[in-house]
This record gives sequence, C-alpha cells and structure tokens, in this order.
Amino acid sequence: MRNSTIPIFLLLTLFSLQSTAQTPPDILNTIFPSGDKIEGGNFEGTVWVKRLLPADSAFNAALGNVIFEPQARSKWHKHPGGQTLIGLDGMGYYQEKGKPLQILRKGDVVRCPPDIEHWHGASHDSWFVQLAITPEHPEGRVIWLHEVTKEEYEMGLPQNLEEQTHLQLNELEPRHRHFVAISSLAAKGDLGRLTTALHDGLDAGLTVNEIKEVLVHLYAYCGFPRSIQGLNTLISVLETRKAQGIADKTGKTASAVTDTPDKYERGKKVLETLTGKPQITPPQSGYGAFSPEIDVFLKEHLFADIFGRDVLSFKDREIATISALANLGGVSPMLKGHIGIALHLGFTEAQLMHLLAIVESTTGMKEAENGRKALSEVMEPAKK
Ligand code: MN
Repeated sequence: MRNSTIPIFLLLTLFSLQSTAQTPPDILNTIFPSGDKIEGGNFEGTVWVKRLLPADSAFNAALGNVIFEPQARSKWHKHPGGQTLIGLDGMGYYQEKGKPLQILRKGDVVRCPPDIEHWHGASHDSWFVQLAITPEHPEGRVIWLHEVTKEEYEMGLPQNLEEQTHLQLNELEPRHRHFVAISSLAAKGDLGRLTTALHDGLDAGLTVNEIKEVLVHLYAYCGFPRSIQGLNTLISVLETRKAQGIADKTGKTASAVTDTPDKYERGKKVLETLTGKPQITPPQSGYGAFSPEIDVFLKEHLFADIFGRDVLSFKDREIATISALANLGGVSPMLKGHIGIALHLGFTEAQLMHLLAIVESTTGMKEAENGRKALSEVMEPAKK
C-alpha cells in the first residue's frame, strides 16, 4: 500500500457510517461536482453520478464521474464498446469475471475490454471516486446483469492478497530478472545479445552503477576477460543511449568501508552471514587446506572486498552468481553452494526455478539444466 493513501483511508473510515448523507463528505477532494445521488437500481449502497460530457459526433465516448460510499458497488455488467476507468480519490475495487480483484487508487487507470463481465465500486472502508470513459455502441453503453453478492464482494480482497503473496513467493522481482539475463549473457560472452539485455535493463530502470557492479562482481566467477568485455559492452550501450538523448540514472556508489578489522576476518564474517554456518579457519581439508593462498584470496578479496561493496545487496549478488555459474557449467559444488546461500537469504525454491526458466530462455536448456540438477540436489535432503 502506498503510504500516501493511509491517512485518506483512516479519515474516510470516519465517514463510513454516514450512508444516509445527502452529499458525499467534504473531505473527499473531488474535482467534479458530485451529481445525482442514486440508491438501489444498478448499484448496491449509495453512489453519486455526474454526467460530465455526452458522446458527440467527434468523440464517441461519454464521460462521467462516480462517487461510491464505502462498500457501494455496481452490479455485474458489461460494455459493448468497453470502458476506461481512472481512479481519482480513495480506494476502490475492479473485478472481471473469473479474475482476481484489482485495487484502484488515485491515478490508477484500468481498461475494461468490450463485452467483458465486470463490476467496480468502493473498498470496504474507503470511499472511491472514479472517472469513467464509456464509448457509445449500437448495443448500448452498458448491459446490466445480476448483483455482486456479499459473498463475491467479501471474497475479492482475500483472493487479491493471496494472488499477490503467491506471486511474491514464486517469482523473481523484475529487477532480478534483468540481472539473470545480463549475468547469463556476460558469462557466456554473447555480447550481441548482452547489448539488448543491457538496453532492456536500463529501460526498466536499473541504474548504471548497479549494472556496472553486476559485471564487476562476475569477474570473481568467470574471470577478468568476460567481466571486462561486459563492461566494454555497457560503455558502448551507454554511448548509444546518450546519443539518442536517453538520460540513464547513475545510481548510488559504494560507501567507504569503515569497518577495519583484519580483512580475512571480515571476509569470514560475510561468508558466515551468507551461509548461516560457522567457518573453520584456516580450512582443515579440501582445496583451502591444499592451497591456503586461494582460501585467503577468496575470503579477503571476494567476500571482503567485493561483497562488502553496498551498491548491491547480498541477494542481488547471489542472483548474478547463480546465473553465471549455471552458464559456466562444470562447477556443480559452487553452484550448489550458492543455491544454498540464496535459500538461506530468503529466496524460495520456486523463485530459483523462475531464475532458471529465465536462464533457459536467455542462453539455453543445457545451462538451465545445470542449475535445475544442482537445485534438486540441494532440495533433496530438505524433502526427506
Ligand atoms: Mn464498467
């Protein structure tokens, strides 16, 4: 919920009992006159309807303002010529038959396609003011159907919340989807398609500094050549966009590191935060015992110097890392390690499946399968 709607929401609640008022409360900052009060008929509860403009020979649509008291709503209906609704104040609901309810607030615009059965009205505790643009049609502007039952009205919001929660738990946020495509193509060295992915990311609002940081981060996983070629591609994309007059956001730069314990210890701590497991140092077995140098490089450089840069969060970095490792192939222990870290940081299995679906559509089936195999091996003990 946007913060700005909270005070309106609370204040409007005070008026929710005054359903017999002759005019809507003054607190509604309505732009247009409230018009005629209507109770019953094609509406449940009380609404005020003001016809602002009829259709004419040049403009085929009528323009009207509707104010709904809390819980007031239209019947189910359809428009043979469709309809556009614009939220002007308060909080309302819009629902098409068989689809989740949508919440409408000031500034929201919804287009209802022709002949689609739907209803709209106010939310439980808030008034709602809408502007409706409704084209004339030989079959009429509106065909009224049956009422929205109390049960249908009550089910809408929980279903909406369930849908939102479901999406949040099962999909990567849009920003991370771009990280997956950029990291996959940079790791592969597919610079032609990386160019397109960089334009897409910038168009979607990623900042120059966060993309730059993803490409710098990748050097720890796919080496300086891939990382620098990625940065070179970003430079040329930015030059192209500048020439086109596109002003991309620079974004924040990394804060100075003020915490100055021993760098090895700092890296060790980051690794413990990422994995949720204590790190035994120096390593007593495996590659770290065999080559203490690489254990030092890994802790001091990767986990202290790189992960310590706050341009990206740990979650951001893991999305980039998993995408790159799935594309490299042949690095199953590291891929499984980072999948474990991502789960520990709060990503769900379904979100990681989403990541791998993006890898599949970006670079290929084989690359996605590397990730799916590692993910299922990480999840297996958890499912036993
Ligand atoms: Mn309608």
